[in-house]
Amino acid sequence: MHLYPHDSMDMLSKSNKILSDKDGQGKERDWKGKKKRSLLMAEHHEIAELGKKAERMYECGSFLSFKLKDERLKLYQAYFCKARLCPMCNWRRSLKIAFQNKKIIQAVNERENVKWVFLTLTVRNVGGEELKDTMDLMTKAWNRFAGYVKFKRSIKGYFRALEVTRNWDKESEWYGTYHPHFHVLLAVPNDYFGRNYIKQAEWTSMWQRAMKLDYIPIVHVAKVKPKKESPDFIEMEQEIKKTIAEQNAIFEVSKYPMKDTDVIRGNKVTPENVQTVKDLDRALAYKRLISYGGLLKKIHKELNLSDSEDGDLIHIDDESDEIANGAVDIMAYWHVGLNNYMIRR
Ligand SMILES: [Zn+2]
Repeated sequence: MHLYPHDSMDMLSKSNKILSDKDGQGKERDWKGKKKRSLLMAEHHEIAELGKKAERMYECGSFLSFKLKDERLKLYQAYFCKARLCPMCNWRRSLKIAFQNKKIIQAVNERENVKWVFLTLTVRNVGGEELKDTMDLMTKAWNRFAGYVKFKRSIKGYFRALEVTRNWDKESEWYGTYHPHFHVLLAVPNDYFGRNYIKQAEWTSMWQRAMKLDYIPIVHVAKVKPKKESPDFIEMEQEIKKTIAEQNAIFEVSKYPMKDTDVIRGNKVTPENVQTVKDLDRALAYKRLISYGGLLKKIHKELNLSDSEDGDLIHIDDESDEIANGAVDIMAYWHVGLNNYMIRR
């Protein structure tokens, strides 16, 4: 009998298993994809001479410790770097915000008869060197804007996210410029569309005034339209169906505003990508991208929800506390050679 020398990969596949973590719908959570994007983002930070952040980002999510309960994995311990541009951390932030907003919106709908409106506030595109100042001005302008009598009289509460995209269209005269803008979800009283209604032109002039612009900015406003109903809702009352469908539409926009595919184009380090990282790193330093106001802020506080931007990124929903001490531990670690998460026995 011949004994073949063991291939190291073969040994690994016997003593280790690839991490599989599924969400409530049975969909695989993309730990691997996010880790790979984080490593690529770390490489860009290194080249952009942001060495400290790069170092932390390389380690982000390298070890994940889960508790296994009812065949489901629940993240229990991990290291997250918390850098503003980290794809791994922004994925966690996004999940946390979606979870929190779901709770807040449900609570608002339970308590008050409100309607929901989306508002987008923009300014003209700016170059990388002006981005930081522009975003600072926008944050200040927002505070003036939300303090206007008209706003306070007509709006019960809001969720606001500051997003930046970059123009990548080589044919465009705006190629390479940045587009910072606010996405706002507004809770308005049930009779808003009759009384105290704010027309699109009024929103535009309010934003122009708050931003002190010498041009007319582009402002979009739209009533939240319910998403197509799912068959599960057929048995329900019409009014409940409508509310749930509307909530589903709202949940779709409650994501963290930083999309890493907007920062790094493709899968390779390029000078343009490095420049984007430099510009955004400077502009986003110490900047809060999301905030709540009015009724939504009050409920956020009442529900005792923690900070989604700089807070804990491990326990992103409140189920975490329910995990019994007796649950089984599962350790996963990032295997550089195999480019995947492996389970440690
Ligand atoms: Zn991170």
